Parts: sequence; structure tokens; C-alpha cells
Amino acid sequence: MTPGTESLIRLDRQYLWHPFTQMKGWCDPAYEPLVLVEGDGAILRDSEGREYIDGNSSIWTNVHGHRHPAITAAMKAQLDKVAHVSFLGTTNEPAIRLAEKLVNLLPAGDYSRVFFTDNGSTAIEVAVKMTLQYWQLIGRPERNRFVAFDNAYHGDTVGAASLGGVSAFTQRFAPVHFAIERVDSTDALARLDANSIAAIIIEPMVQGAAGIRLWPEGTLRRLREWCDAHEVLLILDEVLTGFGRTGKMFACQHDGVRADFLCLAKGLTGGYVPLAATLTNESIYSAFLGEYQDLKTLFYGHSFCGNPVGCAAALASLEVFEQEETLRHLGEKITYLSELLSRVRQNAYVFEIRQCGFIAGIEVRQPDGTAFEWTSQTGARICQRAREYGLLTRPVLDTLVFMPPYCITREQMDAAFVALNQAILDICQGT
Ligand SMILES: *Cc1c(COP(=O)(O)O)cnc(C)c1O
Repeated sequence: MTPGTESLIRLDRQYLWHPFTQMKGWCDPAYEPLVLVEGDGAILRDSEGREYIDGNSSIWTNVHGHRHPAITAAMKAQLDKVAHVSFLGTTNEPAIRLAEKLVNLLPAGDYSRVFFTDNGSTAIEVAVKMTLQYWQLIGRPERNRFVAFDNAYHGDTVGAASLGGVSAFTQRFAPVHFAIERVDSTDALARLDANSIAAIIIEPMVQGAAGIRLWPEGTLRRLREWCDAHEVLLILDEVLTGFGRTGKMFACQHDGVRADFLCLAKGLTGGYVPLAATLTNESIYSAFLGEYQDLKTLFYGHSFCGNPVGCAAALASLEVFEQEETLRHLGEKITYLSELLSRVRQNAYVFEIRQCGFIAGIEVRQPDGTAFEWTSQTGARICQRAREYGLLTRPVLDTLVFMPPYCITREQMDAAFVALNQAILDICQGT
């Protein structure tokens, strides 16, 4: 390790606290954190000059690859004008143009209003608050309960985490979470008293943080029907699935389902800077209109709502989708990913493959199908070994996640799977 890298890691260990990270392990001298310095397409470079395939799109955010010239140029051009202005009482052109563009990406009439925030969790928070206030404003305050699914993940702020169903993430904070009606499937909806329910939230098609779990075919349509029958609002969390991940621009387009709220973040700016959007319809929005004295205003916001640099990045990313026909090319890569997955399925330690568009989960177990002890961190050790073979990713327990930027080449995909396959063998055979 060069002295430069060494001193950075020393300072990191002295001053930082990383997310979702056991810092004792991070600070163990046997562990070498990577200092990433550069990106180019699907490749990341560290401070030692080593190159890696970005196998999880930098925690599920990146879309077109790193340092795409069009996105970089759009952000620089905006920085040359102004980096940030308030969205409370003033407005800005990139935010206006982006809102128009987002509404028009979806079927006419489905959504008409865009509320910008900073990240996936806040995109959910605002949908929750709009829902509660909406029912109060139309004179039905008894509708104040939320339904969420087992194993759901909607973010880490207290409100978003209340909806979460991954107990390892939520258990400790349960004393401050609001009460939820928890269901494990659309069948379970039948036993709910729908009259007190304000909204139901779902990650359409696939639960990401739960370990890439796919919903049965038709889940979203059945949910929509139940919501229609019982006047319950539907919140779609497309923080992960939005912007092409599932093969279409949005996961809800596979089923042609309209929701009352569509929450977007991660890939919105191409994954370049934080920005989120919560889309809703005119019926929700108009309930909030009135005189100031009526106190119908939505008292919610963040300092960086509508940040012009983020909005400029998002606009540029959406233009790249059009100019490069990203979704058409992605279709071919999704097919190729299926091929690579069916090959790695031959590995004796691969128990199950779960694919949704350009999202793949590879679950490893013992050859006889029994799971590894969770304490042995098999998935994490496999990813750590894959890093030595030039692939960066993170598992969910023993499910290895592969969801690279869409610009990844076939050769890079091949190399990623060679790394994965070898890393699985190395760790599971105990070498
Ligand atoms: C990542 C994620 C979130 C939270 O987004 P943050 O930007 O990390 O707050 C919410 N929902 C889903 C489905 C996600 O994958």
C-alpha cells in the first residue's frame, strides 16, 4: 500500500463511522478498506491504481456508468450558474423542466405533481405525510393506518423504517416506530379492516434489501384491485426499480398499474448526486388547496428540495436514455445476464438464482441445500474474495447481488461472473 493510501485509511479509521458497517471489523488491520478515486463507465479505480467492475452500481444508484460526459457537462454548466437556491418561495429552471419530464414519462393523467426531496427515505416520508393529511382534509381522519409487507425496505429515517419489515434493521428502533398493519401477501389483505387504512406501500416486482425477492406474477394488479375496492391509497416505492432497472423505465409499467404516489430516488440523477421525487395526482394535490387560514398547506420540506444541480443531472440522465436508446440495449444485456446466471447455477453452492430485469440475486448454500450459519458471513466473505478478482459488490446475507451500470460490456459481465464463480468456490470449499 502506498503511504498516501495508508494515511487516508488511518484518518478514516480515526474520524469516520460508515453506514451499515461493523466498525470493529472495518478497523481490524486484517481488513483493507478501498479508497475509490475514479470511475469510468462500469469501472471504478482505487487509490492504488487497481480497477474493479462496479457490480452493484455503487449501492444500486448508478445507471449509465460513471463519468458520463453528458451528465458531467450538465452538472458543470449548472454549477457555473448557481449551485443551490431555495425551493421555498422561489423556483429554478432545472427543477421545473425535470418535473414536466417526469410526469410525461408516465401515462397521461396518472401523475400530475412532483415533490422533490433528497433521498429515498424522504421520498417515502413525504408520501406518508401527504397521505395522512389528505384523509384529514377530505374529512376522513379515521383512515390513519398504513399497511406494509413482510421484509419490506423503505429507508432508514424513523418514518420510512416504521414501514420496513426487515427486523434486523428495525427491531432496535421499534419503540419509536408507528404501528403498521403487516401482511405477507396480497391474500392476507382480506383479513384487514380496510376502513381505517390510509395507504398500502410496496416495492413493485422485487424487494431489494430483503435479498432480491421477487413477487408472484400479478401481485401489483391484485393490490391495485384491492385498493380500488376499499378506497385505500397505493404508494409505490420505486426507489430501486425506477429508471430502467427492471427493463422498463418504471416497474409499474410492466403491469400498467397507476398508484397514488410514486417514490423515486437512487437512479433519478443517474446515481450522481442525491435527489428524490414523490409523484402524485391531481385528486390528492387539490385536496390541499385553500386559503392560508384554512391550514391546508403541507408543512413539509428540506433545505435542499429541488436542488438545481441534482435536477440538471437528472434531466441529462433522462436525455441519455433517449439519445442512447438505453432501454433497448438494456433488453439485450438482460437476456445475456440470464444466460450468465443459468451458467453460474451449475456451481454446486448456488442454491437459487433470482433475476428481475438487470437485478440479480445469487443465493449460496451448502450443496445439500442447507443454509450456511449466518454468523459465518459467507456472502460477505465471497464478495470480499470477489474484490480480489476485480469485482465490487455487497451481499444481502448469503445472496450475492449483481446489478451493474447499464453501460457494462459483455466482456465485463463475463469477467464479473468469472470472479463470482471463483470467489464462491474459494470460500465455500474453505480455501
Ligand atoms: C435504497 C432504498 C430506499 C431508501 O433510499 P435512501 O436514498 O437510501 O434513503 C427506499 N426504498 C427502496 C426500495 C430502496 O432500495
